[in-house]
Amino acid sequence: MSNQQAHNLVYIALGANLDSPSAQLNNAVAAMKALSLDGQIQVSSYYRSVPMGDVEQPDYVNAVACFITQLAPIELLDALQQIELNQGRERLVRWGPRTLDLDILLYNQQTIELPRLTVPHYGMKQRSFVLVPLEEISPELTLPCGSSINKLVNQTMRDELQKLPA
Ligand code: ATP
Ligand code: MG
Ligand code: MG
Repeated sequence: MSNQQAHNLVYIALGANLDSPSAQLNNAVAAMKALSLDGQIQVSSYYRSVPMGDVEQPDYVNAVACFITQLAPIELLDALQQIELNQGRERLVRWGPRTLDLDILLYNQQTIELPRLTVPHYGMKQRSFVLVPLEEISPELTLPCGSSINKLVNQTMRDELQKLPA
């Protein structure tokens, strides 16, 4: 942690489609507060989405959260994977059903290529369930590649999601 800045702005994608998905997201948000420097966390609305891939499974509930952390990237990944495990995450099939998925979308404006961690998340620019909630909480955001969030989001993406009541 010594060579990391004390204040790192991070964006996390949340997803769940088993065992009361909205409650899983609520629990994950509560757990992530412990990773936040000031205990604050900004969370988007929750959105219902149709699963990616060919696995037959329930719809997802997705959101994006943002907070400031002192954790280094790998420490953050470890902490998020521990939260996934605490909430019963099992990795059985790729893109299969899960109680909780926590993916690091952005870590400041850094590009990270490690065996266990790629940031920005490789799929984020193609995924409506990431981009739409991300734009909701940070409409002025620009990604490290230079793309602005409002140029990446289009109406088709918005139409793919159902915003859930708060
Ligand atoms: P996808 O990555 O396509 O959204 P997934 O989230 O279901 O699929 P997981 O099983 O949660 O995939 O994670 C597989 C591995 O991805 C993790 O063990 C982790 O080491 C690695 N990984 C690489 N980059 C990231 C990232 N930015 N955030 C979270 N995990 C990552
Ligand atoms: Mg994922
Ligand atoms: Mg994941």
